[in-house]
Amino acid sequence: MTRTVYVNGEYLPEAEAKVSIFDRGFLFADAVYEVTSVLDGKLIDFEGHAVRLRRSLDELEMAEPCTKDELLEIHRRLVELNGIEEGLVYLQVSRGSDGDRDFVFPSADTDPSLVLFTQNKPGLADSPAAQKGAKIISIEDIRWGRRDIKTVQLLYPSMGKMMAKKAGCDDAWLVEDGYVTEGTSNNAYFVKNGKIITRPLSNDILHGITRKAVLRMAAEAQMEIEERLFTIDEAKEADEAFTTSASAFVMPVVEIDGVALGDGTPGPIAKRLREIYLDESRKAAV
Ligand code: PMP
Repeated sequence: MTRTVYVNGEYLPEAEAKVSIFDRGFLFADAVYEVTSVLDGKLIDFEGHAVRLRRSLDELEMAEPCTKDELLEIHRRLVELNGIEEGLVYLQVSRGSDGDRDFVFPSADTDPSLVLFTQNKPGLADSPAAQKGAKIISIEDIRWGRRDIKTVQLLYPSMGKMMAKKAGCDDAWLVEDGYVTEGTSNNAYFVKNGKIITRPLSNDILHGITRKAVLRMAAEAQMEIEERLFTIDEAKEADEAFTTSASAFVMPVVEIDGVALGDGTPGPIAKRLREIYLDESRKAAV
């Protein structure tokens, strides 16, 4: 079945979908995005992603391409047209193009570009990777200073994943001024003596939609949480660690820079939080 994608008001077979070579997303990475997961054919935390999209657009003075209700309708239609039971919906809004290349933003009446496509991922919830847990390397965080805005400037995170792969690992955690910021595409946590520790929100990290939900659910389950800066050495001495993201939910971390955490298998708190998150999210899905 050929994939149907959405481009600026049209539902098209993927091979027919086109964006201008002058699009500022292509030329300047002048674009923001969201990834929403799909379980049981329904969207997980659509509201959270829509609110963060609005914030990213506002921070960059970029026009909203359509209303939240229209966005929900496009998401749902793509999920249905592509028969997605488990997978992801990728959404990107760029500042569009006025038909040339210029560092100066085009005039405010230039239409933003809106592109959405689905990714079919059967077995996303019941993932073998989550049963095994992830091996992490640490690398320096050399990204720009507004990581709270979800832009498509993903070259360094992509290089970080490649560095991890070359080292025989799964992912990288980024370290700035001696403290862990986050993972290449997820928020980072460790657990010591039953307490969950994670970096507080600021411009230094993406305000993860999954982070917010998981911390709320952990608090509801009477788990102890502390939001503070932490070093990679503290994480290496942890009882367990994990990451959160819309595409991998709660992912246990079993090794950091070659040091096994606990007994080297996914820890009980990460496993429990993954279960709770999947369970609660399925119930609230739209
Ligand atoms: N941090 C970064 C740098 C990310 O790219 C992502 C996922 N896009 C996250 C955190 C997790 O955010 P969310 O839970 O909203 O997917």
